[in-house]
Amino acid sequence: MMRIVLLGAPGSGKGTQAQRLMAKYGVPQVSSGDLLRDAVARGTELGKQAKSVMDAGQLVSDEIVLGLIRERLSRADAANGFILDGFPRNIDQANALNALLKEIGQPLDAVLLLDVRNQTLMQRLAGRRICQKCGTVYNIHSLPPGTTTCAKDGTELYQRPDDKEEVIGKRLAVYDQQTKPLVAHYSKLGLLRKVAGEGELEQVFERMEAAALAKPVPASKVKVTKTRAASKGKTSAAKSAKPAARSASKTSAKVKAKAKAKPAKQAAKKSAKKAAKKPAAKSKAPAAKRKTSAKVAKKSSKRAAAARRPAKKAAGKAPAKAARRVTKARKKK
Ligand code: AMP
Repeated sequence: MMRIVLLGAPGSGKGTQAQRLMAKYGVPQVSSGDLLRDAVARGTELGKQAKSVMDAGQLVSDEIVLGLIRERLSRADAANGFILDGFPRNIDQANALNALLKEIGQPLDAVLLLDVRNQTLMQRLAGRRICQKCGTVYNIHSLPPGTTTCAKDGTELYQRPDDKEEVIGKRLAVYDQQTKPLVAHYSKLGLLRKVAGEGELEQVFERMEAAALAKPVPASKVKVTKTRAASKGKTSAAKSAKPAARSASKTSAKVKAKAKAKPAKQAAKKSAKKAAKKPAAKSKAPAAKRKTSAKVAKKSSKRAAAARRPAKKAAGKAPAKAARRVTKARKKK
């Protein structure tokens, strides 16, 4: 069972990676671009409507694409999962997908973002050539110079109309404006997994596989890691704020074990904990800079208390007295 969305700019390799995942895991690749191209090739009414929009590098209407996706996901081979490639492409499509998946009882497992630099995208798209017969994708930059036919069946290679240089810029701009917001959208939902999309095909595939199969860490487990970092004060704020990103390698059993070990340790350091607790929680300084030993924690606790007392009163009736206290407290530091 694999229910994933592949997110990434045109040319990031979604199609290639989807095909490899499909071959290995037996779940169908559902590519909105392929469904549209098929409609265009068959000359259907929908295909006629879509063609000019596609050739211009714009997005086809949500209604048309949704209709195609709904129909495709209702087929028997998608009952045990799917790899969505090129859909959703904007927030409205993402919301529509969410509703559709709820309806058919197939919630998403993950959204994999293929991360590729713009310069590489341009090169891949402009150089892409496809076999008219078997669909094998080549790139002129990696083919012997002058090659115009497929190595497998000798059929002439062609260039997609929207891979022409003048359209590529438009497609990348559309991605930036309409599709990129999905990164934050799925990140908030805890579904996003970023995969480095450059390098050897095989290595990218390994990373994709690992990201697709990684188990998510439930929110409760995430909190355990964060509390531990805060009380120990050793882990940086950035690290403790991103436990989900590290989730792939952490088993829930491990996290549980750490959660159990924590209270015991804390009991042994009862007095240190008492002092360390308040400043760690209230300090606005980055966690990475917080000192950890009981001594330092106690000191900073006193300082914080001293700094808090006069500040409170300064807002009240005796500003002069309060100001003197502040100075006194600062001198003590
Ligand atoms: P792709 O093969 O994913 O690069 O898609 C090729 C073209 O099909 C895009 O440039 C769009 O014009 C259209 N298309 C594919 N997927 C979508 C989608 N989800 N929403 C709107 N248009 C799409």
